[in-house]
Amino acid sequence: MNGDQLMDETQKREPLDVVVIGAGFAGLYMLHKLRALGMKAVVLEAAENVGGTWYWNRYPGARCDVESLEYSYSFDDALQQEWHWSERYATQPELLRYINHVADRFDLRRDIRFNTRVASAARDEQNNLWTLSSEGGETFTARYCISAVGCLSLPSLPAFKGRDSFAGRLYHTGLWPREGVDFTGLRVGVIGTGSSGVQVIPHIAQQAKHLHVFQRTPHYSVPAKNRPLDPGETARYKARYPEHREAARQSAIGIAGFPVPTQSALEVSAEERTEAYGMGWERGSTGYTRIYTDILKNEVANATASDFVKMRIQQVVRDPAVATRLTPRYMIGTKRLCLDTQYFETYNRENVVLVDVSEAPIDQITEHGIRTTAREYELDAIVMATGFDAITGALKGIDIRGSGGQSLAQKWEAGPRAYLGLMTSGFPNLFLITGPGSPSVLSNVVTSIEQHVEWIADCLAHLRQHGIARMDADLAAEDRWVQTVNEAANATLLPKGNSWYLGANVEGKPRVFMPYAGGVGNYRVVCDQVVIDGYRGFLLS
Ligand SMILES: Cc1cc2nc3c(=O)[nH]c(=O)nc-3n(C[C@H](O)[C@H](O)[C@H](O)COP(=O)(O)OP(=O)(O)OC[C@H]3O[C@@H](n4cnc5c(N)ncnc54)[C@H](O)[C@@H]3O)c2cc1C
Repeated sequence: MNGDQLMDETQKREPLDVVVIGAGFAGLYMLHKLRALGMKAVVLEAAENVGGTWYWNRYPGARCDVESLEYSYSFDDALQQEWHWSERYATQPELLRYINHVADRFDLRRDIRFNTRVASAARDEQNNLWTLSSEGGETFTARYCISAVGCLSLPSLPAFKGRDSFAGRLYHTGLWPREGVDFTGLRVGVIGTGSSGVQVIPHIAQQAKHLHVFQRTPHYSVPAKNRPLDPGETARYKARYPEHREAARQSAIGIAGFPVPTQSALEVSAEERTEAYGMGWERGSTGYTRIYTDILKNEVANATASDFVKMRIQQVVRDPAVATRLTPRYMIGTKRLCLDTQYFETYNRENVVLVDVSEAPIDQITEHGIRTTAREYELDAIVMATGFDAITGALKGIDIRGSGGQSLAQKWEAGPRAYLGLMTSGFPNLFLITGPGSPSVLSNVVTSIEQHVEWIADCLAHLRQHGIARMDADLAAEDRWVQTVNEAANATLLPKGNSWYLGANVEGKPRVFMPYAGGVGNYRVVCDQVVIDGYRGFLLS
């Protein structure tokens, strides 16, 4: 009998304590914590290996945009001391090696079922259990279900007319082939210029015979200034790792390395501002929008930061008409700020053409390429850098039924509702890691994942200790939290961007600002206080 069969046999006899869905950063750490509690847990993962985001997004140029020394687990000091990051912003292969190292180091694989995509999760109220079914027909029963499905794990593939008729090769950056792709000598079209597009475009441009970039929205991007990490610098940083990590936990976005702004952009002279933005540009980090206190709060302040980047684009891109088309028209930071390496410079290459599809939209994909309302472009390969059905997509993709058979997708039809982003009322004993209404994608996501995993683990220990079998979010508390999330967003300019934070990139998705914009540190205080108050806002029975 092999391990899988043994697990199936065991399942028939007694339910598991916990089923976790997803084996990315979140699912792996959750499993580690559950083991430490002595709980019987299994992780179900659609992919054939660990890594989540870093398993799927293998496109050339893929790398993190939070510095590697910060974009990593902090829960084990030996782990953070022994792992060596080679670059300031690690590439996807290095990040995947790291996650595999973690899985091996903590012997996690033996409780992960790979190639197992969860299709449904149903609540059995009578027996206080969750039953999960995979697409392959296996079932798993557990007292608790924990979603670690990720905020950016369901690729968004716009339903262009004729998509299946294309005779060439079609890729999505979030579903990149394991064996890689050779674009040498090919005519390539990239659709989309968000974070993934900005990373992949310079790489494809170097290989392809000809590259057409189909841009609907020009985005802000600042140079990453990526570089190899100097061993001395790393050693100095690691010597103070606990302090850096603590600072990250208390910070606004889960990153210790950004100086906390103290001044308004409007209380300094234009010269001083230009100097500060210039330094921010040279520093190479998404902290650019945090140079002053009000860049994300005040439209006039925002314009000063936006104008500096616009000016840089005009300086870098040689053809003024192309530069104008690459110049963003929204307020900086209201969509995710990109970090790049030679992105705008790529448009100075002879073999790269920018196609502005806001002027002439894509009409359809044809057998030979892409047809806009203006003309047809003949292509050998098309790369969709069209992002994800963010935050709710992967969860709504599972047929989740709570108490009384209520469907989660239906409950969230007009937008997601969750108390602290951790639980959603009517779905007892279902926990969400980085769920909607938590800082998630507005932060260093690993910092936010660790906070949620630790909160959930402490909560499960509490329930066990006090003989509590069932936990649900109180609907009134959930409503109040949704209002708090809205107020936090409305205190910033963030809802004014037509962004994926709002679901604007997916046709038909409700426009609701999904993450909590009140800051990682503040959010942690709220979550901790809820526990001190006896799990205020939760129904325990
Ligand atoms: C290209 C890219 C770059 C990024 N860079 C950064 C960065 O620099 N900094 C940052 O903070 N964040 C970044 N992110 C966000 C990133 O998603 C998180 O940092 C982090 O990796 C999320 O980990 P996770 O475990 O929550 O989810 P994921 O890594 O997405 O893992 C979720 C897992 O769940 C599995 N899954 C989903 N649905 C099911 C199902 N129904 N059944 C079974 N398995 C399922 C998926 O296969 C996946 O393996 C980036 C995202 C992308 C796409």
